[in-house]
Amino acid sequence: MLVNQTAPIPSPHATTRPKISRPSVISQDEALRRILAHVQPLSPRAVELWQAVGSFAAEDVSARFASPPFDNSAMDGYAVVASFCTPGARLRIVGEQPAGLDRGLRMAAGEAIRILTGAPLPVGADAVVMQEDVRSEETEIVINERVEEGEFIRRRGGDVAEGQKILSRGERITAQIAALLAAQGFAETNVGGAARATIISTGDELAPAGAALQPGQIYDSNSVLLHALLTNCRAQIIRAEHCPDRAAEIEAAIRRALDSSDILILTGGVSVGARDLVKPALTAAGATLDLWRVAVKPGKPFLFGRAAQCLIFGLPGNPVSAFVTFQLLVRPALMKLMGAAEHHLLLPVVTAAIADAASNPGDRPHYLRGILRDGIFTLGGRQESHALFGLSRANALLQVQPRTTLAAGASASVLLLD
Ligand code: AMP
Ligand code: MG
Repeated sequence: MLVNQTAPIPSPHATTRPKISRPSVISQDEALRRILAHVQPLSPRAVELWQAVGSFAAEDVSARFASPPFDNSAMDGYAVVASFCTPGARLRIVGEQPAGLDRGLRMAAGEAIRILTGAPLPVGADAVVMQEDVRSEETEIVINERVEEGEFIRRRGGDVAEGQKILSRGERITAQIAALLAAQGFAETNVGGAARATIISTGDELAPAGAALQPGQIYDSNSVLLHALLTNCRAQIIRAEHCPDRAAEIEAAIRRALDSSDILILTGGVSVGARDLVKPALTAAGATLDLWRVAVKPGKPFLFGRAAQCLIFGLPGNPVSAFVTFQLLVRPALMKLMGAAEHHLLLPVVTAAIADAASNPGDRPHYLRGILRDGIFTLGGRQESHALFGLSRANALLQVQPRTTLAAGASASVLLLD
């Protein structure tokens, strides 16, 4: 018998049961794709090189000139003509070339010029012998060992050719890259714009740091968490405020944020409880809600929306959920906003052996917190979404796919935290 597998199986109680509408949950990849589609990189700005470190290059940069710019000595020693330097040969010292000012010296076979590291090579010389490898007398040196042509000479352009690309648009500028730019005579460079960020934490139960806790209250840790994560990503926090669970107050705070921010992050109040007022407050403030509920654990009630130029993220209140959804879904958007190339958007992933077995019977990828050391990932602390202690130890997230069991010792994907 042929069975039509796509036809719904009628429930015997279909007519008596109340209809529950369950909003669909979006996959992590689909959520990220939709979010990134709405991100336009901010206008670039010119900054001093040391300030550029950690930002993303706004344009390709090419070498202005060959480097080294002239042939020079890699050692303190003597410039010589290599073919003349058989062991025992005696060379007459005819001058000295220090680093810094090219004296335009010339020399011939049988002669030596005292030379210092970084000093321009005299015309006629084709090698440098280290001062440790000669015996020096008053006006002469005696060669101890054979000398190869080109020895201890740093050739013009040997490191960087003129016009060579030294920085690509979207690349993260490191201290080393800043040094390379400085060596090329740049004082400033163009980097992606700094995102202006606002943080709003919501919840009647939250007390600010430093206040005395009333019975039933907890401290607001997400504000600090987000402040730090955003700062790590080089965003500029322009406001952080807390709202009780009152729609009008949340709406007013959202309105204050929208004009001045490129990114608004709310925490708490995005789930399905009666006190989860962030969604209606965003709608009342005129924001568009693009997605709500993403298939990740922890962090399902994640929300993304927009208003004018501002990207809006609603993160679950549980601190671990807020952390994980920030890493998976907010950080990539922020990176793109600030001009990062595609390969910088996601946290780096490595394969590691897991010390403990891990099982995910659910239908969402599960991100477990732990410590990666010497290629081995060890779970750290309780794996519940309120459990900050384990998170505080973690330097990596283990990704366990839905309906997957990993035995101890198995290889698995681990995301490296900044
Ligand atoms: P919610 O998402 O508002 O339902 O909150 C979920 C859980 O996270 C509750 O236990 C809250 O008390 C807690 N929570 C919410 N916001 C914060 C915050 N800013 N800092 C620490 N915990 C929070
Ligand atoms: Mg709440």
